[in-house]
Amino acid sequence: MHFSCLSCDKTLESVDGGDSDVTSVETATNVYDGVACMTSGNYGSKVFDSFDGSYLFFHVCDECLTKKKQHLFLVKGSADSGPSLWREVQATGQ
Ligand SMILES: [Zn+2]
Repeated sequence: MHFSCLSCDKTLESVDGGDSDVTSVETATNVYDGVACMTSGNYGSKVFDSFDGSYLFFHVCDECLTKKKQHLFLVKGSADSGPSLWREVQATGQ
């Protein structure tokens, strides 16, 4: 199964190869050279703000993550302890 980077449209291949079903979250989550992202949206978006537990799911390639890391937040902690935000992402270089 192949997916595309949301930012640059680069093809990202599932680590499970081409025989998996796209409806499998595990298959969609694990791609080579990229990450899977999800959002339930938020108040203020004119595009997506989920009220029923659904979320948008998409991929971003490692190259775009590295190029755009100044726009990312690294969140540490949990929902119980309250997340803390760091402006800098410790992206591993390639
Ligand atoms: Zn990309």
